[in-house]
Amino acid sequence: MPYKVALAGNPNVGKSTIFNALTGLKQHTGNWTGKTVESCEGHFSENNEMYSVVDLPGAYSLSSFSREEAVTADCLQSTSFDCVAIVLNAGVPERNLIFALQVLSMVPHAILCLNLTDEAAKKGLQINAGQLSKRLGIPVVSCCAAKKQGLREVKRAIALVCRTKQENAFFRHLQPLREDAADRLLHRYAKQLCDTCVTRTAADRKTRRDRKIDRILTAKATGIPLMLLLCGVLFWLTAVGANYPSGWLSTLFAAVKERLVTVCSAFALPKFLSGIIIDGIYTTLGWVVSVMLPPMAIFFPLFSLLEDAGFLPRIAFNLDRCFAKCGAHGKQSLCMMMGIGCNACGVTGCRIIENDKERLIAVLTNTFMPCNGRLPIIIAMLTLFFADSPNGWVSSCHIAMLMVAILAGCVLITLAASKVLSTALKSQSPSGFLLELPPYRAPRLLKTVTRSFLDRTLFVLGRAVAVAAPAGAVIWLCANIYIGDASVLAYCTDFLDPVGRFLGLDGVILTALLLGFPANETVIPIILMAYTANGTLTEFTGSEQLYSLLTQNGWTAATAVCMIIITVLHFPCSTTCLTIKKETGSLKWTLLSMAIPTITGVVLCAVTAHVL
Ligand code: GDP
Repeated sequence: MPYKVALAGNPNVGKSTIFNALTGLKQHTGNWTGKTVESCEGHFSENNEMYSVVDLPGAYSLSSFSREEAVTADCLQSTSFDCVAIVLNAGVPERNLIFALQVLSMVPHAILCLNLTDEAAKKGLQINAGQLSKRLGIPVVSCCAAKKQGLREVKRAIALVCRTKQENAFFRHLQPLREDAADRLLHRYAKQLCDTCVTRTAADRKTRRDRKIDRILTAKATGIPLMLLLCGVLFWLTAVGANYPSGWLSTLFAAVKERLVTVCSAFALPKFLSGIIIDGIYTTLGWVVSVMLPPMAIFFPLFSLLEDAGFLPRIAFNLDRCFAKCGAHGKQSLCMMMGIGCNACGVTGCRIIENDKERLIAVLTNTFMPCNGRLPIIIAMLTLFFADSPNGWVSSCHIAMLMVAILAGCVLITLAASKVLSTALKSQSPSGFLLELPPYRAPRLLKTVTRSFLDRTLFVLGRAVAVAAPAGAVIWLCANIYIGDASVLAYCTDFLDPVGRFLGLDGVILTALLLGFPANETVIPIILMAYTANGTLTEFTGSEQLYSLLTQNGWTAATAVCMIIITVLHFPCSTTCLTIKKETGSLKWTLLSMAIPTITGVVLCAVTAHVL
């Protein structure tokens, strides 16, 4: 049996970074409080012994009321761990020690990891690990997880405690006390430990610099405009940067396609088989890769860099007032930012909201933020229909501004829906909350970019390919199996066409949205397959060809606008629906979470189609 080890600590102290370094896993890391709401398990071995490690959600206290803190407290109480590694931010020793003492009073076997020692040094703080170890009766290890320093020692200390079952000096210290008396004792003892074990060696320039930046980034007058500007720069870089790789990939796919045609004719493949493989699956996938991959490969790593640098909580801080006015919780904006990556993650992330009604509002409105699968569709629509020339810098600015406007629109719709829901649910005035503004940290460039590329970009692409390939085959068959004069596909799209036209779309788009329920990434491939099944797609020249295919099928700028609206505003994908069902435990709320965006989208599309 492996030894059981847990990692516990305040939020944002580097637990997941240490967990990843110990286990070799890829748990999401980020510079903000509340990103880990579920525990995660991994393994490592040391001296031929196996250790199973649980990364617990961050907690400020074990007697608090938030869900992730309850998960941590329950887990520590109900599992007899062979060792709990308590991770501390060495730059904020007193507050972190209060939590550590709370854990030590609850579990006998533990070690302390003094992490973020590099930041502590910049703040002029030095902790005497030996002295602290003597006072608490446990091993205390200094480390800097981001630079992989001291992690060997962490492993050794864990192994030592697991083997020797050494009991800490504070175990059961608080048991017979009342909660307020226990709190007072914890604060007093933490202060005493700091007085004896922590020395200030220089002035704290880092915190002063962070406060100066915060005075600009979170000020009433400058906060929101700077946030929009930052968002604009992000999308501008995405639009400018995506053009070039997009062109290269199209050329590459065109060259490979020629070879494939030659190979198919050399092997004398039946026409229907080469049709499915080349015209159905390969060409469409090629377009997905060349049109969808480049913006995703640029946007998500840039977004991760902002996350790592500590910008997300500042955005939440700036938006807090707006959410409070709409009867929603300020933490909802953090869940929305998670939703930009993936709505299922955003919905799970709503656990950081303690109040049930406020959490429900956040869950039901999360899908208004466009996820990984939908953002590229919006960018593609803007690039194809609203850029003057595909490579121009001015066009890229234009696209970036439109993207910012669309995202601002998504936030406004979320606020409006939250207001309606909070009135309908008779939610009390929003509960206050403490939001820790983490220090600004230089993001780990290479690691963040590669992780984001692998975790987000390739994941989405993999999902698109996995669903688009079989969907391509099915659609190709539907388009080539005839009942009477018309193909099966034509029956479906013709059936939905009147409704589609009424919404400024067409039957093919509606079919694609319905078939895209398993994953939104497949909507564009399905549309392309449905159109190409009619034999219009022959060449492979990237976005111009895509544009001409769409316009041949009756698309105009008005169609693109309606497409953007319906992309943002329709039912969430199946994974998100299942997550909503899991989180709310109710079919009624799940169905409502599908109905709210769909009805909003249908109404807006119908109005837009008749106005434009
Ligand atoms: P968790 O919330 O406790 O799991 O914290 P994470 O592992 O997600 O780390 C929070 C942030 O701190 C991330 O941006 C990490 O890159 C960063 N980080 C972790 N350890 C260190 C460290 O030793 N030094 C510095 N400078 N940053 C660190």
